[in-house]
Amino acid sequence: MMSIVEFFRNLPKKHCSSCGNVIQEKADCYGNLCDDCDHPAR
Ligand SMILES: [Zn+2]
Repeated sequence: MMSIVEFFRNLPKKHCSSCGNVIQEKADCYGNLCDDCDHPAR
């Protein structure tokens, strides 16, 4: 049986649909954009 750690490790990393950077797995609310692209006002 695969451990939960192995499960998440095998998940493909999400990439920002705008700049292509790898999105850190913080929360689902970021959608397909990384931090930089999600806050263009900064
Ligand atoms: Zn981005």
